[in-house]
Amino acid sequence: MSQKVLVIEDSTTSAKVLSKVITQAGFKPVWASSLIQARHIFDHSMPEEFLCALVDYHLPDAPNGESIDFTIDAYIPTIVVTGREDEDTRSHILSKKVVDYFTKGNSQVYDYLGRLLRRLQKNRQIGILVVEDSRVERNAILALLQRHNFITYSASNAEEAVKQVAAHDNIKLLITENDLPDISGIKMVDSLRQNFKKEDLAIIGIAHQGKPGISAGFIKSGANDYLITPYCHEEFFCRVIQNIEYIENINAIHKAANTDYLTGLPNRRYFFTRVNALLQSKPAFMSLALMDIDYFKNINDTYGHDGGDEILKAIAALLLEESAEYQVARLGGEEFCVFMPNVELSEATDILEIFRQKVEALRISFGKDVLQCTLSIGVTDQYNGNIDDMLQRTDKYLYQAKELGRNLLVSDKQQLKA
Ligand code: GH3
Ligand code: MG
Ligand code: MG
Repeated sequence: MSQKVLVIEDSTTSAKVLSKVITQAGFKPVWASSLIQARHIFDHSMPEEFLCALVDYHLPDAPNGESIDFTIDAYIPTIVVTGREDEDTRSHILSKKVVDYFTKGNSQVYDYLGRLLRRLQKNRQIGILVVEDSRVERNAILALLQRHNFITYSASNAEEAVKQVAAHDNIKLLITENDLPDISGIKMVDSLRQNFKKEDLAIIGIAHQGKPGISAGFIKSGANDYLITPYCHEEFFCRVIQNIEYIENINAIHKAANTDYLTGLPNRRYFFTRVNALLQSKPAFMSLALMDIDYFKNINDTYGHDGGDEILKAIAALLLEESAEYQVARLGGEEFCVFMPNVELSEATDILEIFRQKVEALRISFGKDVLQCTLSIGVTDQYNGNIDDMLQRTDKYLYQAKELGRNLLVSDKQQLKA
């Protein structure tokens, strides 16, 4: 079920526009036209049901931002919507613990709002570690981050910080000062960088104004960014979000480079990287299977390339479902493979034979047609230290399976007829 976003807004026109933006961002708008109505909604629901609230600064029963206090007191991340652009209103809004604010009527702003809502949703999965000696300072930063839905962790010295990073792999950003009681923040960043790359863990160093060497020291020791105190909250959030988005973008690029576009399966390149990594742990035995769709060219000729694509996607989905614990890939064209560490030939043969039968039983709707296909499989557990030799052996068995009539499995030991 999609998360709710509370809209407290007396103008019907404005509420409609906001509701549309919320729906487009994938959330469910819940509209209250006054503070009283918002209170009524809260009496009948749990605050956790709401991702955030969009609150009009000026309402007939709350003319000066009183609704903002109401949602903040209910621990709901609050975004303020205002028709006023004067500096007094802006500073009054920013003196409260709001996520952000924007003025009505500017069309760019709705685009920004959509992104902000999705951001607040994603932040719920992202951990940020704050390393700060002073409890007051530390809690102030943690409160800012919690306002944006981040999962927060804290440490008061470098040793604790290193332990926290090792213990929680959802930590994507670390914010640290330099004056820590054990070692300096700069030294800590330097040592963290031995194990965590910039694209896996972003680091922002906090430097005090008038100490220019510190910010440079952070960057030189591997921090992604720095903040100079005193900073305003808007700047703080801009830096945090920018660094989180950097990590997300790099991850998306890695994923795209390692994934087959059509099926979403790991591609050939990633398959061999993963298999080589798995081989480092020296499994006592292992099996490798190569599979190829039978008469696939006929399917393309009969139903077109799109029909063929549907079959590839359906087989890939089944393969992921059936072999979640193994390393699978689309090697290219209509060829797939499965690497099974610590699985002997007889067990591998059983698993793959069931898979072959499931593919044979698969019926895929395609327009008015129902598509079906079969697979030929070659499997081996003979590993001589070279994975390419192993793959060649499966290729040889696959060829035999085709020669023997297709829709069957050939292994080192047995040929199972369909
Ligand atoms: P066999 O039973 O001997 O394996 O015969 P086959 O027709 O499956 O094998 P062949 O190698 O002759 O043809 C494979 C076809 O797969 C040719 C190619 O156009 C098609 N193909 C490769 N990649 C894709 C793809 O991404 N989508 C679709 N629809 N077809 C593809
Ligand atoms: Mg084929
Ligand atoms: Mg082929």
